Amino acid sequence: MKPAPFAYLRPATLEEALAALAGEQGAKVLAGGQSLVPLLNMRLAAPSMLIDINALPDLGHVRVAEDGVRVGALARHAEVLGSAEAEQAQPLLAMALRHVAHPTIRNRGTTVGSIVHADAAAEVPMVLRLLEGSVDVASVRGRRTIPAAELFAGPLESTLAHDEIAVEAFFPALAPGAGVAFQEIARRHGDYALVGVAAHVETDGEAVTRARVGFVSVSDVPVVVDVTDAVQDPAGDPAATALAELDPAEDIHATAAYRTHLVKVLAPRVLAAATDHARSRAGEAIHP
Ligand SMILES: Cc1cc2nc3c(=O)[nH]c(=O)nc-3n(C[C@H](O)[C@H](O)[C@H](O)COP(=O)(O)OP(=O)(O)OC[C@H]3O[C@@H](n4cnc5c(N)ncnc54)[C@H](O)[C@@H]3O)c2cc1C
Repeated sequence: MKPAPFAYLRPATLEEALAALAGEQGAKVLAGGQSLVPLLNMRLAAPSMLIDINALPDLGHVRVAEDGVRVGALARHAEVLGSAEAEQAQPLLAMALRHVAHPTIRNRGTTVGSIVHADAAAEVPMVLRLLEGSVDVASVRGRRTIPAAELFAGPLESTLAHDEIAVEAFFPALAPGAGVAFQEIARRHGDYALVGVAAHVETDGEAVTRARVGFVSVSDVPVVVDVTDAVQDPAGDPAATALAELDPAEDIHATAAYRTHLVKVLAPRVLAAATDHARSRAGEAIHP
């Protein structure tokens, strides 16, 4: 199928893009096009105008500072994945990006576009939530920062207003004493996950002080569950704690029972791996 007709604009400045977006109710932003263009081709979306942001300056950065990683709206998944500094500061980003699609799609698709697209089957929105990151957005009305906990409104729906462009995502650095892990099951590596699970564990010596688990393809929004009590209790069952807050759904890819089974298998595995990661990092800090 071919897309419905649309006007096309490729502004050279952010101000021009924001004014065009504010002036056209049916307009949509085009970044890497790896999610939007298939939707257009299938006529699941029919915007009156595409505002292509690929010519905008100063949005292609992957910037690493002590507090974390800042990813500009035009940084491709492959560029984020290729940054050894970003991986060092926040290893979960690279762990998850290795599972995002295939190299050709990662060369074009943007990490910020994936977040705004708000697909619960996508890895990066869940990672942003688990890490308690945020997104900076701009509009003709000014700028604001949206914490990840307030970013995902529903299936494929973010809380960005129609006239807002996301300019940067912020992934906090991994704190000393913290560890992360990610695993997913997909039919083929690079396919969307049947279920993906990430863990973020904070430790103090041998004790786990906080443990949270994030899920891909389990709910219709990216979801994170705090399982600290279950991890601290020798008889606790973190997967059962998580499942009490999840409602795995059936679709053409997997039954609800299979997704439930994968949560039970993967959640303890990633929690154990993240705890080992935290302890090995503590060891590295003591014995550099
Ligand atoms: C075959 C295939 C397999 C894939 N597999 C996976 C996978 O396993 N995991 C995964 O996570 N993703 C997967 N993807 C999607 C891919 O990661 C996309 O890159 C990503 O979802 C969207 O990024 P984009 O830059 O292409 O956004 P686009 O397609 O350009 O835009 C997506 C949506 O976000 C909006 N948008 C984009 N950028 C901005 C911005 N800066 N400000 C405001 N709105 C914006 C657009 O208006 C649109 O609504 C796959 C894609 C394909 C085609």
